[in-house]
Amino acid sequence: MSKDNFVLSTGYLKKVVPLLMKYQVSATPTNYALWYTYVADADTDLSKEINESIQATGTLSEVQCDQLYQSHFADKKVKEADDFQQSLQALALEMGNTMQDTLKDTDTFQSTLDKTFSQLARVGEETLSMDETIAVVRSAVKGSNQIRQSTSFFKNQLADAQKEIERLKETLAQANEEALNDALTGLFNRRAFDAELDALASKPPPKGFSLLICDLDHFKSFNDTYGHLMGDQVLKLTAKRLSDYCREGIQAFRYGGEEFAILVPNRQLNGACRVAETIRASIDRLVIKDKKTGKKLDNISMSIGVAQFEKGEKIKSLIGRADALLYEAKSLGRNRVMPIA
Ligand code: GH3
Ligand code: MG
Ligand code: MG
Repeated sequence: MSKDNFVLSTGYLKKVVPLLMKYQVSATPTNYALWYTYVADADTDLSKEINESIQATGTLSEVQCDQLYQSHFADKKVKEADDFQQSLQALALEMGNTMQDTLKDTDTFQSTLDKTFSQLARVGEETLSMDETIAVVRSAVKGSNQIRQSTSFFKNQLADAQKEIERLKETLAQANEEALNDALTGLFNRRAFDAELDALASKPPPKGFSLLICDLDHFKSFNDTYGHLMGDQVLKLTAKRLSDYCREGIQAFRYGGEEFAILVPNRQLNGACRVAETIRASIDRLVIKDKKTGKKLDNISMSIGVAQFEKGEKIKSLIGRADALLYEAKSLGRNRVMPIA
């Protein structure tokens, strides 16, 4: 690195730390990379998105940092890591099965061997001289012991490997639990939602924020008619559509099965309802086709309950209010937003 570059990058570093502190973002390597790129203005799209978020909400939360890091730095790596994790899981499962079979085989092998030796000893008595018989039996016993030793060594090794695989499986399960993304749709998951909502409620943006709880209508019957796999495709499509609206600080999450949550900062209730209405209409317009046959399937629709955060209110109460309005939208005939803007 030349001296100029060194001076320049030290300058950037000196700017990164105060920003991390200002927005209360933990100094992890990924956050460092994100904010370093920002102060160096090395990725104009990234800088634009960060500026937009800060303008909209006055801050950039951990979850948003994670989202930006994933979309600008880690997309490819995350995909590779996912693939790797999946093949590792498959391998672990297969090896586990093979080993269990092998353990059974080794047991069978050992008892067959034992039986053979005892028969050999009897036959030997009838056809061989005493000395010869003893020699055969001795060598047989010796061989048997060797095999016994090696199989028991083999058994131990297999048991160790199996323990290791169990440990690996647990680590993978834990990693999955800690993930912030939903595997099917790629949206942020419930865990991320809880964290983000906590952060927003404890430090609301200047003009507050609203919560949208969205639920696909009659999705059970869609699944029953077209199958679960087709249902999964619809969930993916819906998620993709929702993420199109993730601008100006708006964030979408997969809240549960066919339910999504959307956080809309800096809008009065009316404004948030208008966002909800735009989303509802765009889901209503989705054309769903069977890829194999090209046949058009029944339309899907979404009902949405909207609630604006009231200062000092408990998160549970906010969710409860949005949920009650969603329920109202359902009972009024679905495919609608409540309250009416
Ligand atoms: P409503 O309009 O009242 O919301 O009716 P609904 O059928 O959508 O509601 P209900 O809660 O009875 O059923 C939800 C359905 O969503 C049932 C379940 O099979 C489906 N579902 C949940 N998660 C998934 C998923 O990951 N994939 C698929 N294909 N279906 C899912
Ligand atoms: Mg539901
Ligand atoms: Mg539903």
